[in-house]
Amino acid sequence: MKDLGIEIVPYYDDNFSYLIHEKQAGVTALVDCGEMEPVLRRLETNNWRLNFILATHFHFDHAGEIENMKKHFPDAIVVKPAGEKRLTMEAMEVKEGDAIAFGQFEIGVVSLPAHTMYCTGFHIEGNLFVGDALFSAGCGRLFEGKPVDLERAMDKITSFSDDANVYFGHEYTQSNIRFAKSIEPDNGDLEAYRKRVDQIISSGQFSTPTTVGLEKKINPFLRIDHPDVAQAVDSENKLSRTERMGKLRGLKDSF
Ligand SMILES: [Zn+2]
Repeated sequence: MKDLGIEIVPYYDDNFSYLIHEKQAGVTALVDCGEMEPVLRRLETNNWRLNFILATHFHFDHAGEIENMKKHFPDAIVVKPAGEKRLTMEAMEVKEGDAIAFGQFEIGVVSLPAHTMYCTGFHIEGNLFVGDALFSAGCGRLFEGKPVDLERAMDKITSFSDDANVYFGHEYTQSNIRFAKSIEPDNGDLEAYRKRVDQIISSGQFSTPTTVGLEKKINPFLRIDHPDVAQAVDSENKLSRTERMGKLRGLKDSF
C-alpha cells in the first residue's frame, strides 16, 4: 500500500510502538507510547506530526508516556478503549466496530479483552495492531481475562484474512517458539520459523510484523483445534475447547 507507511519503533528491552502514516493527507497515528523519546526522534526524522495516539491497553509500558507525548502535540487525539478508567487522560473512547477517519482510509477497532479486560486492537488496510493480545508464536498473559476471553480473542484474530499483517507489542518470539516446540515438536513450519527468527534477531532486526496465516501454522494459541495441540494439552481428551485454551496458557505460564 504505497500511500500508507508503517514504522516500527522499538523501546525498552523488547517493546514496540508503531507509527502509521497516510501520505496523501499527511496524517500520522502512534500505536502505544511507553517511551516518548524514540518516537519523537522518528517523527522528527520523517518530518511527521502526530494526529492520533492509540492506546491498546493501560499497562505502563504501553501507555506511560501518552500524556507527555500529548504535550508535544496538543492537537493530537488520544484514542482509548471505552470504559478503561485506568487511562485517565482526556481521550476519544472507542469500541468494537468503530472506525476513525484517517486520510483516505479508516482505522477500525477490534475488542480483544483477555490480557486486560479492555485490550483493544486497531486495523487499517490489512494491518492489525494487537498490543499484548497476541505475540508471534504466543499470546499475552491472562492478567484479567478468563480462558473463554482468550479463546474469543484468538478466534477474532483468526477471522482476519491470512495475509493480514499482525503488529504486536513485544519481541518475545524466540522464547515463545521454545514453548511452542514443547507443544508441537514435530511441526515443520515451526522449526522453519525458528531458524528464520534466529537469523532475523541475530542480524539486529525484529520479528514484527507477523501474519495471521503464519501464526495459524505456528502459534499454539491459534491451533487449539489441531490434533497435535489438543493431544499435547489434553491427552485423555477430557477438556472442552475453552478448558484446553486455559490449560495451554497455564502451561506457558509455568514453562
Ligand atoms: Zn500489557
